[in-house]
Amino acid sequence: MSQRVVSNIYFQDNLPSSQLVIPLLPTLLELFYPSHCAGCGEALFEKSRLCSRCWRQLDLLPEHCCQICSHPLPTTTTDSANCENCSGRKLHFIAGISLFRYQGLLRKLLSQFKYAGDQSLKKVMGEIMSRTLQDQRLDGLSFEAVIPVPLHPHREREREFNQARLVAEELAGRSPFPMKDLLRRIKPTLTQVHSDRQKRIENLKGAFALKKKQVLCGNYLLVDDVLTTGSTLDACAKVLRDAGADGVWAVTIARR
Ligand SMILES: [Zn+2]
Ligand SMILES: [Zn+2]
Repeated sequence: MSQRVVSNIYFQDNLPSSQLVIPLLPTLLELFYPSHCAGCGEALFEKSRLCSRCWRQLDLLPEHCCQICSHPLPTTTTDSANCENCSGRKLHFIAGISLFRYQGLLRKLLSQFKYAGDQSLKKVMGEIMSRTLQDQRLDGLSFEAVIPVPLHPHREREREFNQARLVAEELAGRSPFPMKDLLRRIKPTLTQVHSDRQKRIENLKGAFALKKKQVLCGNYLLVDDVLTTGSTLDACAKVLRDAGADGVWAVTIARR
């Protein structure tokens, strides 16, 4: 550590003391207040908010997955196959892309972020999203905007923030696409985890709307935290397509 500090220190003759102090500040701050890995708490001296060991702990979904919803497929199926859930289902988004499984360290980080309100984790989520954006299913695509899946206002008031919006902001900051908070949730949702699929789909009918009536064109990228069956993304994508969007894709931090 001392070597690192020494290597960053430089002195120049005739510099006023304020100018001498400013270049040293980041180094000294790092020394006394190093950033810590969001996963294991170890001191970090790299740009990422996760150490390389924690990155390796995140559970990558297999490349052989449903092209529509990223659900892992049995190795016996052909490359272009879709999962049972997506086959024969009319969806309004083209692909919902997720690179990591919702388990282990990522599940812990997501619940700290979402339920314990640790907003500092948005940087890690932004890094995960940047990687997700590199998926080949998004190759060469350009988006009019990155759009967060909205929370119902009651839920957002309870939680004090919408995690998908924070992640969408982070993603927009790391991509050429602007973030636009175009959607609102007009119907509160059932606690999805505990309701069956048919009930969830029924409940999501008419649950979303545009905040402001407008005509859309071009492609849009939805952002959410966890992809389960894709029904929420589908309901949001339907609103965008009904308003004129040419194509809707989605990215999520994790897939259940
Ligand atoms: Zn770590
Ligand atoms: Zn699928």
